[in-house]
Order: sequence, then structure tokens, then C-alpha cells
Amino acid sequence: MLVKEEEILKTYFGYETFRPGQKETIEHILKLENTLAVMPTGGGKSLCYQIPGLSRNGTAIIISPLISLMKDQVDSLNSLGIPAAYINSSLTAAEQQDTLAGIAAGEYKFVYVAPERFESGRFVQVIRNIPLSLVAFDEAHCISQWGHDFRPSYRSIISNLKQLSNIPVFVALTATATEEVIGDIQSLLRMDHVVNTGFERENLSFHLIKGRDRSSYIRSFLEEHPEESGIIYAATRKQTDSLYAQLSSRGVPVAKYHGGLSEEERKEAQTAFIHDEKPVMIATNAFGMGIDKSNVRYVIHYAMPMNIESYYQEAGRAGRDGEPSDCILLFSPQDIQLQKFLIEQSMMEDEAKQLEYRKLQAMINYCHTHGCLTSFILDYFHDDASRETCGRCSNCVERQEKTDLTTEAQMILSCVKRMGERFGVGMTAKVLKGSGDKKLKEFGLKSLTTYGILSAYTERELTEWIHFLIAEQLLDTEEGRFPILKLNRNSVDVLKGNRKVEMFTAPIPSSDEADYQEDLFLSLRNLRKKLADERDVPPYVLFSDATLKELSRYFPI
Ligand code: ADP
Ligand code: MG
Ligand code: ZN
Repeated sequence: MLVKEEEILKTYFGYETFRPGQKETIEHILKLENTLAVMPTGGGKSLCYQIPGLSRNGTAIIISPLISLMKDQVDSLNSLGIPAAYINSSLTAAEQQDTLAGIAAGEYKFVYVAPERFESGRFVQVIRNIPLSLVAFDEAHCISQWGHDFRPSYRSIISNLKQLSNIPVFVALTATATEEVIGDIQSLLRMDHVVNTGFERENLSFHLIKGRDRSSYIRSFLEEHPEESGIIYAATRKQTDSLYAQLSSRGVPVAKYHGGLSEEERKEAQTAFIHDEKPVMIATNAFGMGIDKSNVRYVIHYAMPMNIESYYQEAGRAGRDGEPSDCILLFSPQDIQLQKFLIEQSMMEDEAKQLEYRKLQAMINYCHTHGCLTSFILDYFHDDASRETCGRCSNCVERQEKTDLTTEAQMILSCVKRMGERFGVGMTAKVLKGSGDKKLKEFGLKSLTTYGILSAYTERELTEWIHFLIAEQLLDTEEGRFPILKLNRNSVDVLKGNRKVEMFTAPIPSSDEADYQEDLFLSLRNLRKKLADERDVPPYVLFSDATLKELSRYFPI
């Protein structure tokens, strides 16, 4: 089987063997069975439709969401001597006419278009009258509302397409498909087969960094990796600008990219990055789709992204050449507020918002799990290839002594119960702490027996623990902007003492900030002792340790 196709692989593309999933996908397509291929970024999805396109008569139409993506693909096909073209808004009206005439004459083996093109009667008319080899949906997750990059135009053209009687077979390709997305694509495009190679990319190491000053982390990372190419994703345009200013003033060869720049500026930045004139790119998530730069050695997220799908896709731009590469996420608790704010401000329908909140919660859990980060992501995508832990992510590498937190967990869970399972993380932490916040009194929470039950810890620590319990599924959240904490079966096991809760101590290297706070705390303690001696009272009469700890956090560095 596939003798001819293996020939094409060698003669046109210069490769000896197929990658996982390619052969199977190509075989299905050649039998004219609609096929969805789910393969990781860099897995070689393009060849899955390019080879059948070459081996069959007629023109292949590829629907693609981004202009830059189309141009790259067409350029690389042309450079292999394969006639290909694209039509999109970057062409002048005259150029569009020329290309359309070429398509009508059957000059091209591959034609790349944006979904909107099918709204043009003229284009559909041309397509209707030529032999087609296949229609492919690249980045097919854009079809689905469940996807992280839903494009209504992708979905709305499907019914138009189905009316064309000359489409022999549909192909869909994506790197990020959850069960819901796969189901959606399957039913919308009537897929006969799903070829899913799984998501794991063994050359990527995931790192989660918490409690560090992010700018200084990035500065020292760049100092340690001076010759390497990488992408730094900021959460907002403003953050991008300020990081760019900081780093370029230090002489780092850095480019910047975000939606607020002119098309020209963006193009220039992209080219400088791709040609390694400026090997470091600082950008918002506007950057990257369709960028095929193979030697990206690291992707740093300056802040937590809005969901795991986008995170994995963005981080996955590292290491497309298969060499070991790092994906680093710098997390700070205020990122959660920012993402909630962005969802709240968006124009989405309520139902869509709920879904975004649910996906955000999974992202928050990723930032609090003490388990293997790689496994966490793969589980999220329901990639159930058997595996224990990856042995290379920061949670696998840096895990140290375990601390038994069962008693504390029981206190937290019983507090949730006593609060009537009606409140979120923030309020629960306040009650555990015994905070003086007026709201507690209003809600009648001050009289609870669990009020102040963990007052020796800071609200911050308690918040971190609650998030940890959620991440480990020992506690549930009800979706929404202020997710309400609910007990689940695992919580009951913990409360009954049937299940131990263990936390890895200090999975995070101690930061300058933490050291500083510790120093401050110790000197406050000395001061307290001095005062207590002078007044001849026990120290705790003046301030508790917890209060001193709290105080030490309020001093600026
Ligand atoms: P994807 O769309 O899945 O992210 P691409 O189709 O852009 O990936 O392919 C990624 C890279 O892998 C490209 O440089 C491509 O030429 C290369 N590639 C694809 N198939 C093979 C193969 N069978 N052997 C070697 N390299 C391949
Ligand atoms: Mg691709
Ligand atoms: Zn791991």
C-alpha cells in the first residue's frame, strides 16, 4: 500500500518515512473517507492532505484561519515546484481576479482560502465547476464553540460546502482537540475516522514558577540563555511594551508583536524573529499561529493564560525541530483576577462565559497541582496513553519532602461545610484566618466554630492551600465568576480520615521576595521581644506571629 505516496514523500518532500499518524490518515483520505487528524504541533499535519492532493486529480481546497499561514504554505509548496495559490484580503482586486482565473483553469493543485471566501458567490461558482481532490480544514478546532479559537465563519460555511456535489472528501486537522471539540468536528463534518496520535511531545519540559519577581526571572533567564531563540508571551499589550522597553534597553536582541502595532511593524518584527536577527520575541497571544520557526528553544509565559488549550498551543511553539526545549509559566495569584476580568468584560453570551470560567478553572488547577505537569495537560486532553510521571517537568524534578497536611485539609473542608457550601475561595480563606473583614459579620460567619481555626497562617497561604485542594480534586468548584466551593466524595474521605493529604514542601525555589519577608519577620520578632521585655509581658500579648508575618508582607521591597 501507498507505494506511490511514499514515492511522493521522497521525491517531493525529501523525507524517508512517515511520521506517526500520517500514513493512516493518507490511506483513509485516498479511500475517500472523511478523516480528522489530531496530531501535536509540528507533527506534520500538512503532509496528510498534501500527499493525497498530489496523488489525486484535481485541486485541493484548504481552509485556513490566518493569512500568514496561507502564504507560508503556498511559498513552501511553490519552492518544491508544486503549483499552489491563495486568495485573501491581502491581494489586490486585480490579483484576486488573476488567481480566480487560474483556479478556474485548473492551474493549481492547492488553493488556500479563508472561510469567508465561501461567502463570495463568484468564488463558489468557480469551485463548483472544477474537479476537486479534497477539501481540508486546517486548524479545525476553530469550527467548534468548544475550541479556544472559535470562528463562526468556519462553522457557517459548512452547510454551503455540503451543497457542492464535487467535493469527494473532507479532511480536518488540529493539534488541540478536547473530547468535545473532536465530537463537534465529527458530527459537523461527518467524519468517518479520527486519527489521534496523542499530544505528548517528549522534547518539551514544562516548568511552573511561582512567587518570583517575574521581570528579574526573565532577565536572569535571558542572561543564562544568550544564544537561544525564544518567545515570551505577555498578558496584555501594555505588558508587552514595558517588557520590550526593559529588555531592549539592556541590549537583548528582542522584537515585539501585538495587535496595537501597524501591519508593517508586525511584519518587520516577525521577519526579524524568523531570521534570527532578533531571536527573542515579546508578544501577546496575537503572535504565533502559523509561525513555523523550528529552533525556538523556550516559550515563557509572563502570566497565566486563559485556558490549557491556548497554553499548550502557545507553549508548543517551542521545539518544533524535536530538540529539548523549555515551556515556562510564571504564575502569580493576581493573574486569576485578570483572566476573570477579561472573561467578564467580553461580549460572550452567559453560557459561553460559563464555559470559559470552567476552562479557566482547569488552568488555575494546573498552577496549583503538585503532580506531574505533563500528565496534567495530557489528562486534560483525555490523552490516556499509559504513563506515570514525565520525570522532566518542574514538579517531577523539584519535588522534595512531603508534608502531611491532612489535619489542615480537614479543617478547611469542615469550614467549607459549616459555611453552607455557599462561598468561594476568598471568603473561606478569610474565615479560616479569622479576618476582621466586615463582610464576615454581615454574612454571620464570625460565629462559626471554624472562624480563625487556621489563624496561624496568612490568607495567602490559606488561599494557596484551597487552590491546591481543588487542583487535587479534593474539593469542587461550581463554575462562575466567583466559583463556590463544594465538597465532593474525596472531601468526605479526607474528613473521615480515610485519605491522607500530602503536599510537597517548597516545590518553588525560595525567592528574593520571600527571603526578604523572612528577614523582616525575624527582625519584627526581635523588636517584639525587646518591647515585651521592657514592658514585662509575654510577647504574644503584643502581636501574634501570624500578625508579624502579615505585617512583613506589607513592606515594599
Ligand atoms: P503541523 O501542521 O502538524 O504543526 P507541519 O505540517 O507544519 O506540522 O510540519 C512540521 C514540520 O515537520 C515541517 O517542517 C514538515 O516539513 C516536517 N515533516 C512533516 N512530515 C515529515 C516526515 N514524515 N518526516 C520528516 N519531517 C516531516
Ligand atoms: Mg499546521
Ligand atoms: Zn512531570
